[in-house]
Amino acid sequence: MILGWVCLSLLALGCASNGYNKGQFNLYSIDEEKKMGDDFAQQLLDQYQKKGKVYNDKQVNNMVKRIGSTLAQHAPENKFSYHFYVIESRQVNAFAVPGGHVFIFTGLINYCQNEAELAGVVGHEMGHIISRHGTEQMSKQLAVGVAGAVVGVGLAGVGVDPSIAQMAVNAAETGMFLSYSRKDETEADDLGACMVYKAGYHPEGMKNFFDRLHKKQGDMSDLEVFMSTHPDPGDRETHIHDLIKELGPTDKLKWDSKDFKNAKAKVAKIQYPQKKDK
Ligand SMILES: [Zn+2]
Repeated sequence: MILGWVCLSLLALGCASNGYNKGQFNLYSIDEEKKMGDDFAQQLLDQYQKKGKVYNDKQVNNMVKRIGSTLAQHAPENKFSYHFYVIESRQVNAFAVPGGHVFIFTGLINYCQNEAELAGVVGHEMGHIISRHGTEQMSKQLAVGVAGAVVGVGLAGVGVDPSIAQMAVNAAETGMFLSYSRKDETEADDLGACMVYKAGYHPEGMKNFFDRLHKKQGDMSDLEVFMSTHPDPGDRETHIHDLIKELGPTDKLKWDSKDFKNAKAKVAKIQYPQKKDK
């Protein structure tokens, strides 16, 4: 029964608001997801705080929040309210925690060549949240884990035990929330590109970011986490490029801002520890 579950939803090009996340298997209610995501994000923040890695600079945090809240205004729906955190690390990384939490690393800000690129990555992460990819992955793992126990009972009757949800909290930052399928990646790209475009950013920024990532432009040890947690769905740049052609005119869209440049200049001065800081 569980293994026979097939996802029938297909993503079409364009910004249709009803073409994503349909018929997906998810054991969690929105309220459960919010509660679990809030708790998990808080635990992560506490860990980063202990390590002195929460980057508190107001200008940089405000810049990230400005991008995020602009994108949120153009999300196809907002089941969640968003929170953005800046983590001090040379890693080119960003990740989404279910329920609306987006973590952005200073190494990522420094890697982005303009605001449109950063908006592309933030939009991509928000796409994972809107599509509920984290709890979808967890639901699949739960289904596999408890399949033997629920034979004959029926999946619909299975509640999510809080202790099982707690296991997710114990997952580290590269844990189960963060390994997405290729299909998830495409879905997050599509949603992100649409939001970025509607918010007035050039969606080519997202394409350029992934292009440089895949060409491994930069220190591989700084790039590898993002690359492993956001696997290339195949022909990613071509897909985004095709989508951009469907979106409409792009000649008046924004690429950059003084605010981004100033924030990036600040982040570029951070002195990271010599050893690889995860
Ligand atoms: Zn992703």
